[in-house]
Order: sequence, then structure tokens, then C-alpha cells
Amino acid sequence: MSDLNVELTAPNGVKYTQPTGLFIGNEWVKSKSGEKITSINPTDEKEIVSVYAAGPEDVDLAVAAARKAFKDPAWRDMATTERGELMYRFATLIEKHKETLATIETWDNGKPYSVALNEDLAETVSTLKYYAGFADKVHGQVIDTTPAKLAYTIREPLGVCGQIIPWNYPLLMAAWKLGPALCTGNTIVLKPAEQTPLSILYLANLIKEVGFPPGVINIVNGEGRKAGAALAQHLDVDKIAFTGSTATGREIMKMAAVNLKNITLETGGKSPLLIFDDCDLEQAVKWAHIGIMYNQGQVCSATSRILVQEGVYDKFVSAFKEYVSTASKVGDPFADDTFQGPQVTKAQYDRVLSYIESGKTEGATLVSGGEAFKDVGGKGFFIHPTIFSDVKDTMKIFREEVFGPFVVISSFKEEEEAISRANDTTYGLGSAVFTQNITKAHRVARKIEAGMVWINSSNDSDMRIPFGGVKMSGIGRELGEAGLEAYTNKKAVHVNLGTVL
Ligand code: NAD
Repeated sequence: MSDLNVELTAPNGVKYTQPTGLFIGNEWVKSKSGEKITSINPTDEKEIVSVYAAGPEDVDLAVAAARKAFKDPAWRDMATTERGELMYRFATLIEKHKETLATIETWDNGKPYSVALNEDLAETVSTLKYYAGFADKVHGQVIDTTPAKLAYTIREPLGVCGQIIPWNYPLLMAAWKLGPALCTGNTIVLKPAEQTPLSILYLANLIKEVGFPPGVINIVNGEGRKAGAALAQHLDVDKIAFTGSTATGREIMKMAAVNLKNITLETGGKSPLLIFDDCDLEQAVKWAHIGIMYNQGQVCSATSRILVQEGVYDKFVSAFKEYVSTASKVGDPFADDTFQGPQVTKAQYDRVLSYIESGKTEGATLVSGGEAFKDVGGKGFFIHPTIFSDVKDTMKIFREEVFGPFVVISSFKEEEEAISRANDTTYGLGSAVFTQNITKAHRVARKIEAGMVWINSSNDSDMRIPFGGVKMSGIGRELGEAGLEAYTNKKAVHVNLGTVL
């Protein structure tokens, strides 16, 4: 066995073969430079395995394979129904391997196994099935003009799509991007995050097994500044889709300008959750917890700023503290009762701890948490779920994205004040409103500057509903029918019926 496949046993006893190469044209290859990145288990800080890391020369090969596949009749002329069936079989094969994939996800990322299996994997499969169903339903229109002319549109794939994905949902973010790109006939070079390279490599074997023609999906692990940047500035890449930080999104936009690539960006947020006096407080507490503490708080649309109307402020803060202390059990992500595993990396762990220090220094009230959690063998990147109240709008912890189990709470008097403070941010991804008054709920929903509003819930996402942000939270939409727009051109055909000129 070469070092392109390594036999591993995960902490839960699952044994499997971990591919470690670059997946180009349905073949496993080493990177030209031989460079590798090492994946670390965030629970015990031990190395899991090293995998090959692509440089620009490897990205060139992957893009060439994707271009060749894009021109190949085996893919280009595949009947759309057949393409849909292929995608559906791919989803079904993933389902068959879901325990192994969820194991890898938990080992590499630190998310609880129950979440990886029942949510990430389940949604990966359902997203791919959902888009499989669209493969033979994406079509143009005939547009009436004059009797002398027939005009119609054709929905065409964009071509070679670069997809750069983050570490918080490695497989699911891949599925969000692969689904709409594949069903519309594009070819793909996907770059996973260097922090979580493993599960997508396992997925690559399933891509080959199910029978995608070579080059339709290529996977190149690697550092953002090397492999990611090479993809974003490649002259033969037609589109770049990115999920990650706003700072990197801005860099990608600049690089993509080199050939005016089509872009979709899904970046950061500091999403507000507004609680009005007339809400169902028990529901508000429950959803506020899910909205920020789920996935170790590593969710771009996490409702990380809670604004509570004065009449229920004290009650909410104490009920929320109580709820978080019982519902947010921190521990080994392979244990059944764990709600919160470790942060994904030491860098993220340090980042969250630095915001905790900032909250303390700036004078916010620490309600609970506020330190590292060391009860899992004294190792790992675990943090106590942290709540700060009496937070002022000028404080760093109120303004900046933390990306951890960390939430700020502040009070407001009037509706208009709540809306204007909710909107006083450069971000605009998610938002949530808790009130029993339906008129107020819809009025506030319209006034909030965000791509998504949850009324009486938070982060309740669904593959059929568009996901994305406004302002510095992104460009374009993923999921739903809207997600198809991001992967097709509308070509206009004008037919002179012989009576003009
Ligand atoms: P990042 O944005 O730097 O990384 C995301 C992806 O972009 C990775 O695949 C990375 O390799 C790639 N990348 C990085 N630099 C690149 C470059 N110059 N050119 C091309 N690709 C590049 O995120 P990070 O550093 O891992 O995390 C930092 C912060 O980003 C987090 O604390 C969080 O605030 C945010 N984040 C947001 C999301 C999200 O879902 N929106 C996901 C992960 C991280």
C-alpha cells in the first residue's frame, strides 16, 4: 500500500482506509512538491494523518482535468435525466457510508458524532438528492416579442467552477456547492479547508465508484494562500464559490477579478436575535441557545448578538444562563450526551479565548463560562459556553465575529431602537425576531438588513430555501432554486423568422 492510502482506526473503533492524495481526473496523485498538511484531532491534540497539499502546479492539473471533462461528451452531452440519476446514486452511496464519513468528520473537526451523523450527513445526502431532482428541470424560456421574431433563452453551465470551502461543515458545505454545480452540468475543482481535509477525500472514492466521468469533480487539499489563491486567480476557471471569512472573501474577489470570474461569496456575520417583551420566553431561550451554541458556535449565521427588551431582560438572562448550563454539555465528541465538542483548531480556540479576555477587560458582565474547559483528559480545544450581558454596542465583543460558543446580550427600550442597533453592523447574514405579535414580527423582518430572518426560531435552515447574506456577509445565494442561478448562464437566442429587413 502506498502512502496515498493509509489504514486508520478512529477513536470510536471504526477502521477505514484514508486516502491522502489529490483527486484529479478520478486518479489519486501526490502533489508535485511533495508538501503535506497534517490533520490534528482537536479533542486530544494528536496528529491523525498527513495528506498531500496542492500548490499552483497541481491546481493547474486539476483545472485542466476539469476543462477536459467539461468538453467531454460523456459529461457535456449526458442526458439531464441520466445526470440526475447519477447524482442520486451518489447521494445513496454516501448514505451507505454515512457512519464512516460521520466518524471522520467528528475526528477531524471535533463536532459531536450524533450531530455529524444525524445532521451533517443527513443534510449532505438530502441536499444532493434535492439537486439531483433539478437536473432535468433547469430550462430556458420562450420570450414573446413580435410575430417577426422567435426569442428564447438557454440555461448553460458556467464551465469550470472553483469551490473553496470552510472547516465548520466540511461535507455539508461541499454538498451545498457540488449539488447545484453538478445538476447544471459544470465541472469542479474543490478545495477543502486545510484544517479538515479528511472526509472529502473519502468522499472522492465514492465519486469514482459511482461513475462520474474523470475530471467532473476534482479535489485538491492545500493551504488557502497557495492552493486556494491559485484557484481564485486561475485564468481557466470560470467561477469561484467561497464560504469562509469576510477578509478572505475580499481577497478572493480581488483575485477573481483577473478574468472577471462569476463569484458567489458566503462570509461572516454578527447576526442579531431580537427578543420583545411579548415573546414566548421559553421558546426564545431554547432557540437563542441553538442559534449560538450549536456546532461549537462555529456557524456563519449564528445569532451571536442578543438584544432583549427591558421588560423581559432580567428574566431572559437568568433563564438563558440556566438553560445553557444544562443543555450545552461539553465533552468528548464521540460520547452520546455531548452537545459541544472542541473548537476546530488551536488557532480558533485562542481566538475565542482572546475575545473572552476582551469582554472582561471592556467591562461587560460575565454571566457564565469565560474560560477553557479542561475536563476531557486535560487536553483539547474545549471552551465553556460563554455569555456576557450588559454589553455595549461600542465593545469589540458586540461588533466582531467570534465564531465560538460565545454570546453577547444587551437590552433595548423601543422597536425602532432595536432595529437600528441590529442593523448597525457591516454584516447582514442572519437575524431572528421573537414576538407573539404577527404584525410586529413581519414589520421588523422587513426592516432588518439581512439575507435571512427567522421569526420565533433561529438558524432553522433548509435546502429548499435560499441561504446567503447582504452587506459584507456575501454575494449571491446558495440552496433552493436560487442556488441554480449561481451556476448557469442565460444565453439569449434571437431568431429572425424571415419577415424583418
Ligand atoms: P478562511 O476564510 O481563511 O478560510 C476558508 C477557506 O478559504 C479555506 O478553505 C482556506 O484554505 C481558504 N483560503 C484562505 N485564504 C485564502 C486565500 N488567500 N485565497 C484563497 N483561499 C483561501 O477562514 P479561517 O482562517 O479558517 O477562519 C477564520 C475566521 O473565518 C473564523 O474565525 C470565522 O470568523 C470565519 N469563518 C467563517 C465561515 C463561514 O461559514 N462563513 C467558515 C469558516 C470560518
